[in-house]
Formats: sequence, C-alpha cells, structure tokens
Amino acid sequence: MNTGLDVFVIGGGPAGLAAAISAAQNGLRVAVADCAQPPIDKACGEGLMPDSLEALEQLGITLDRCDTGLFRGIRFIGHEASVQAEFPCGTGRGIRRPLLHRLMAERAAALGVTLLWGARVSNIGQGEVALNGERLPCRWIVGADGQNSQVRGWAGLGAGSDHQRRIGLRQHFVLPPWSEFVEIYWSDEGQAYVTPISSREVCVALISRRRMVAFDSALAQFPQLWERLRSAPRGTGVKGAVTVTRTLQSVVRGKVVLIGEASGSADAITGEGLAVSFRQASALGQALATSDLALYAQAHKKIAALPHMLGRSMLLMDKHNWMRDRALRAFSRRPSLFSRLLAVHVGALRPAEFGISGILNLGWRLLTA
Ligand SMILES: Cc1cc2nc3c(=O)[nH]c(=O)nc-3n(C[C@H](O)[C@H](O)[C@H](O)COP(=O)(O)OP(=O)(O)OC[C@H]3O[C@@H](n4cnc5c(N)ncnc54)[C@H](O)[C@@H]3O)c2cc1C
Repeated sequence: MNTGLDVFVIGGGPAGLAAAISAAQNGLRVAVADCAQPPIDKACGEGLMPDSLEALEQLGITLDRCDTGLFRGIRFIGHEASVQAEFPCGTGRGIRRPLLHRLMAERAAALGVTLLWGARVSNIGQGEVALNGERLPCRWIVGADGQNSQVRGWAGLGAGSDHQRRIGLRQHFVLPPWSEFVEIYWSDEGQAYVTPISSREVCVALISRRRMVAFDSALAQFPQLWERLRSAPRGTGVKGAVTVTRTLQSVVRGKVVLIGEASGSADAITGEGLAVSFRQASALGQALATSDLALYAQAHKKIAALPHMLGRSMLLMDKHNWMRDRALRAFSRRPSLFSRLLAVHVGALRPAEFGISGILNLGWRLLTA
C-alpha cells in the first residue's frame, strides 16, 4: 500500500474510478478502496449517450474495440403515440456494467492508481481513513460510495433535499436488438427502457414509483414489449436498485469531497448518471491538482443543473398520466420539438437556444394535444 498518498477514494464504482483516473492524469498519487470484488455489477440501463462517451474519452477510455450495442437516438413509446429522434451528432453505446467497470479499473491501474478490492472503509478522520483496522494518511478524501454514502454523513454533508425515490429492476435478454434506438416505454406503472448492449443482447430496465413484486409481472404492464420478450432467453438474473432525486447543499467540507451518486443524483430515467460522474471527475482532478476545491463545488453545481431539470420534467410525466399522454401526442405531432429537446439533453443545444419560443410551442401543444 502506498504511503504519502495525495488522494484516497472511497468507493470504486464508475464515479470513484473516474475520480481516481482524473486525479492520476493530473499527476496525483491515488488509492481507491471498494468493499466489493471486481468487476462490479449494478442495476442500470447501461446506456451511454454521445455526450457520456465524450466525457469517458476525456478519461482516456474508448469503447471502439469492445462488445457493445450502438444506438442512434431515443424513442418514446406510449399507449397511443410514439416519437423518436436521432442524436444531432454521434451515436450512443450500450455496455454491460461489469465490462465498463473492468475497462475503468484497467485504465486506473495503468495510470498507477492503487486498487484495493474487498476493502471497506469504516470511518474517516482529519486527513486519514480507517481501513481494516489501519489508519491511512492522505491529503484529500473523495467520497464515491454511492446513493447511501456513509462518507456524506461522516463529513456532515448530508443536508439537502431528497425529492423522490423510485425502484429500478434490470435484466438482460438474449435477443438481437430490434431497434437502433434506446426505446423508453411509458405506462401508468412507470417506464421500461431497452438498450442494445451487443449484437446479441438487450438490457431492459424497469423503473417505478411502486414496489415491483416480480420482474415479469412488472414487464407485462408494457404489453408490446412483453409480447416481444416473454419467450426470449434471459442472459442474467434480475438486479434491483433505488434511484433517488437528491440535491445537496454542499459537496465539499475541508479536505473531504463527494462525487457521483454520493454527491446527489437525478432520476435514472435521464440516462445521464454516468456522464455526470465522468464530468464531475474531470473537474475534480483539476481542482485537486490546484488545491482549489471551490472550483469543483462550482463545476459540480453547473454539471448537475441540466440533468436535474430534465429529470424533474420526466418525473412530472411519470406522475401525471394526462401530462404524459399529452406530451407524447404533442411530440408525435411535432417531432422536431422532441429532436430539439434531445439535442438539449445531450448538450448539443443550450437550453437558452431551445428558447422561449420552444417552451411556448411545447406549452401550447400540451394544452391542445
Ligand atoms: C435502474 C437504474 C438505471 C440506470 N440507468 C442508467 C443509464 O442507462 N445510464 C447512466 O448513465 N446511468 C444510469 N443509472 C445511474 C448510474 O447507475 C449511476 O449514476 C452510477 O452507478 C453511479 O455510480 P457511483 O460510482 O456514484 O455509485 P455506485 O455505482 O453505487 O458505486 C459506489 C461504490 O461504493 C462502494 N462502497 C460503498 N460504501 C463503501 C465503503 N464504506 N467502503 C468501500 N467501498 C464502499 C460500493 O461497493 C460501490 O461499488 C441508472 C441507475 C439505476 C438505479
């Protein structure tokens, strides 16, 4: 184990590994500890939009030679109306979480990061972490320990809002992708989204406000999708996770800083969780290298703003069936509005460019659809 560490990262999921990679890219000595063994899996839609891939490239990781699924855009499918739009530039990719985890861990190791697996951090102090009964000194502590972050509590950074919790379930189906789009099916129970993750397999994630008793009965709430998948072989067992909409008042205290879901999150339906972590990591690496965590705090706020705004809008559609139906009808009558919203979503169009006229147009169509 390295002594004289600059950065100790608690949690070696995507956010923790991204933070470690970025800190190492900036010349810092880094260790990561995670209580799980690699490669780490997690319930996830497994989709990386073009902007997520760009943020991953900043960390020196490309997926060109990996077994992934390609998608050209997003399709919303409702009871009565559907709409689709292509990304304004680039394509997205679906990738199994363990594969993404392996690539990220390999990149971190290649940069000289010390990786400690099966290692649970039990507390933090002034410039030290407690690991397996040892106290390890470091200059900075990064809390990347996910949704139920203990580091957040230890550092007294827990204050903030906790708007909504929803349940997510995920399973893989061995079936060639039938669409070049990530399909998001909407029902009264929630959403099902389908991401191509290779030439032979799709990932299906179900998200709902209500407890789902079993994957199949929840999937049957989307009859079109159920018909297609009911007899397809399953590639994996069912995995579950909770998605929370959370904004913290602060993500930095002294020498402790939070990243990824530990630092707040937008609902999983945005499909932006990983991209947000990668962008936060790039900002954090630079801030640590200049010993100016206020820079990170500012960047964190900016990075989180758009996914939170999009998440809130999509949760309104989830909560109010009339709004969902009207929005889907409005989009299907005017697909260019959906294309422009998708462009905002992937950062190709600034919200200001969508503009008042876009909002009024959408509002009018919602009222009249
Ligand atoms: C149903 C669902 C679908 C989603 N779909 C998408 C999608 O399609 N695209 C997308 O970009 N995002 C998606 N997301 C969001 C994405 O999964 C998260 O943004 C991402 O997992 C956050 O990574 P993280 O590293 O912050 O947290 P995690 O992945 O939860 O990692 C935290 C790590 O910390 C470790 N840890 C915890 N406590 C300790 C401790 N005391 N000591 C050591 N280690 C510890 C854990 O073992 C874990 O490995 C989805 C989320 C859900 C729930």
